[in-house]
Amino acid sequence: MDIKNVTIAGSGVLGAQIAFQTAFHGYAVTVYDISDEVLEKAKATFLKLGEAFKADLEASQQEVDDAIDRLSLSADLATAVADADLLIESIPENPSIKIGFYEKLAGVAPAKTIFATNSSTMLPSQFADSTGRPAQFAALHFANEIWKHNTAEIMGHPGTDAEVFDTLVAFAKSIGMVALPLHKEQPGYIINTLLVPFLGAALDLLVRGVADIETVDKTWVMGTGAPAGPFRILDVVGITTAYNIYKISAEKTGDPLKQQVVDYLKENYIDKGKLGVATGEGFYKY
Ligand code: NAD
Repeated sequence: MDIKNVTIAGSGVLGAQIAFQTAFHGYAVTVYDISDEVLEKAKATFLKLGEAFKADLEASQQEVDDAIDRLSLSADLATAVADADLLIESIPENPSIKIGFYEKLAGVAPAKTIFATNSSTMLPSQFADSTGRPAQFAALHFANEIWKHNTAEIMGHPGTDAEVFDTLVAFAKSIGMVALPLHKEQPGYIINTLLVPFLGAALDLLVRGVADIETVDKTWVMGTGAPAGPFRILDVVGITTAYNIYKISAEKTGDPLKQQVVDYLKENYIDKGKLGVATGEGFYKY
């Protein structure tokens, strides 16, 4: 399966990054979004990404200009996918928006197009039927700041064709990613399967008064050789994200300890605007 033309649906935080990264590595890329106005904003984002590629990767101005030349924009889905070998969907993390999108896409994409979702929390099997081509559908999940955090988790659903899966692995490598294949569907992929309980354990230790922030982090760093402890990681992820995950989990389980964590985060961090690195203060000051 030869991938030459790639369409990215959604030009937001991740979609713009995936589009730029793919164009930077030589592919012809079409970016699709809901309106010309939104796409106009993406143009400014591409210029900023060009600056980041120059600063962080020592890319030349010529390489950045060439990447921008390979990017085209369209607010018409049929036009955007007319010759797509691969479409990567990076639209809002909302199941009904995604299902509506795939149903529309199924009606206009050529038979050859492989579809991939960048969803962080949903499983490809949730959308496989809506794509109208379940065998040609899987998840291809990138991390924020793709040019630096260059991982791509590839995860099929039980009906994904093996050749399609392998094509996605090869494509990910061809755009400079470290490909991380998963052999089964797993909510949260590998990273969040590990990270969510780990960060949760740190919050439990804090809220139950077992140890303070610095001691918990120091224990992890010294005990494992890891560069950062859980509270430093929470500051990078953003305390709002941790709060939202805990809130949903507390409501679902009725677990009083989880509710205690929710209340603690709200009172001490969320309500005070201490949301992590992004706001200059979270568990630590920056
Ligand atoms: P975002 O809100 O920044 O961007 C979403 C884009 O989709 C917007 O430009 C919006 O106009 C567009 N859009 C909305 N409805 C659409 C439709 N029907 N058709 C086409 N485009 C539509 O969101 P984001 O943070 O880039 O996240 C997009 C996806 O990437 C989500 O599934 C998210 O889970 C995943 N993801 C995000 C991150 C992250 O750090 N932000 C990391 C990995 C994966």
